[in-house]
Amino acid sequence: MNARRMAPGSGAVVQQIVGNWKMNGLGAELGELDALVAAGPVAGVSLAICPPATLLSRAAGRLAGSHVMLGGQDCHAAQSGAHTGDISAEMLADAGARLVILGHSERRADHGETDACVRAKVEAAWRAGLTPIVCVGETAAERDAGCTHEVVLAQLSGSLPQPLRAGLLMVAYEPVWAIGTGRTPTPDEIGAVHQAIAGVLPPDTPILYGGSVRPENAAALLAVPHVCGALVGGASLKAADFLAIARAAGAFVR
Ligand code: PEP
Repeated sequence: MNARRMAPGSGAVVQQIVGNWKMNGLGAELGELDALVAAGPVAGVSLAICPPATLLSRAAGRLAGSHVMLGGQDCHAAQSGAHTGDISAEMLADAGARLVILGHSERRADHGETDACVRAKVEAAWRAGLTPIVCVGETAAERDAGCTHEVVLAQLSGSLPQPLRAGLLMVAYEPVWAIGTGRTPTPDEIGAVHQAIAGVLPPDTPILYGGSVRPENAAALLAVPHVCGALVGGASLKAADFLAIARAAGAFVR
């Protein structure tokens, strides 16, 4: 059994399935959350949805008391202050979030976020009691150049503060070229990167795979050793697709 799938102290094997709605979703789409709640939990599978900031409070109301956790998609490093348009980790927690995605490749590309910037945001998440999901992943050019492991491990070491807060951290391996493209690495390629990441993290840290996870490929991707769940973009927008992925994850709970 893969030790990284064990929930600390529980003896149960847990898969983490996290939905990233990105810049998608109006109030009308909140019914998808109602459908997730109505479907009930999948044994051994932890579910979370990270909607856009505009929906956080309303989503918190829909998910209150349910098995589906709420997460943010980013936070500022500071607690408060003159940072127009930004949201602090404390604000996310206040809105009901328990998780926050940090260092997503779209933030790194669109907003010039560096590893140091991500590291400061991870500190902020911990300060607010949130679990950060720290994203790392190589571009197509970096993979073609044969430096995937080097790039991913460098991002990880630059993005994670020391000492680590074991039990309050998730990492998502998301090859940039796989996000939203319908393309994925092979299971062996994913397994090799996850194994390398696992080698530098505390043993109970969930390492998620992200990049074009769909109901059709979820079982194959989640079966890979050291893969403890998925960060799901496009397929998280529809409850039916997200649930299908969660149920596929349930097959790897022992
Ligand atoms: C993501 O946004 O993190 C992601 C993996 O997107 P998609 O599933 O659409 O590739």
